[in-house]
Amino acid sequence: MIEFKNVEKKYPNNVKALEDINIQIPKGEFVAVIGLSGAGKSTLIRCINRMHDITRGKLIVDGIDIGKLRGYEIRKFRQRIGMIFQSFNLVTRISVLKNVLVSLVPELSAWRKVTGIFSREHKIKALTALEQVGILDKAFVRVDQLSGGQQQRVALARTLAQNPEIILADEPIASLDPVTSKQVMNDFKRINEEMGITVIMNIHHVEIALEYAHRILGVRDGRIVYDGSAKDVTEEV
Ligand code: ADP
Ligand code: ADP
Repeated sequence: MIEFKNVEKKYPNNVKALEDINIQIPKGEFVAVIGLSGAGKSTLIRCINRMHDITRGKLIVDGIDIGKLRGYEIRKFRQRIGMIFQSFNLVTRISVLKNVLVSLVPELSAWRKVTGIFSREHKIKALTALEQVGILDKAFVRVDQLSGGQQQRVALARTLAQNPEIILADEPIASLDPVTSKQVMNDFKRINEEMGITVIMNIHHVEIALEYAHRILGVRDGRIVYDGSAKDVTEEV
């Protein structure tokens, strides 16, 4: 469960990106955050893993007041939360499998990353994650030889291999064509339904949000202006 209690986020330049946010997101939900550019969607998502710190209120994740976490505790907490970006953030000159492995063992020395010595356990985890998103056959292909949709699936596999409880996705399909977008959305849907992982996604394609998400959060000028099921959304949101 994720709880926002009177959350405010003001950036150092005094822009108030979030104000009076009071929401609860139970485990296993598929939430789409919609709204115009600059509404505060990205800020809302990024506060959940403390990429941004809130300036007022409380953000509680599974009973933990995350504002109280420090250094090492923040890193440990972040391991429970996967993050997917519009730009995939992969290392393009190495193989798909290696991308997943390297992020599984971040403490690995640079030398071992280059020589590619990974434990059997990590390899099984990585290959299983690739299978879960349907790109096991691309394991030994370099990332720069894949399409955008396939690259986003690699990013998803990389996150899944870490067994996250929550996946935050910031405009994951914004740079993909409509057909590929649907494939990626179907992966998120499967991950949510079959693995019970909470998915919170920013998305500016309202029709796709309504098709896939259980719950819609409409954001405008840093405030929640709609919170409800996809089927009750009206034009105005
Ligand atoms: P959205 O994701 O809906 O496009 P954002 O959360 O990115 O909205 O931005 C909300 C508001 O906060 C905007 O006015 C934006 O310019 C501002 N903002 C976002 N990030 C920063 C930052 N790092 N520093 C200052 N202002 C920011
Ligand atoms: P997106 O909407 O795809 O997240 P943006 O172009 O809004 O991308 O923002 C890109 C980066 O710049 C983000 O890290 C955001 O936090 C930061 N940013 C956005 N608006 C501002 C701003 N007014 N001042 C400083 N940084 C900003």
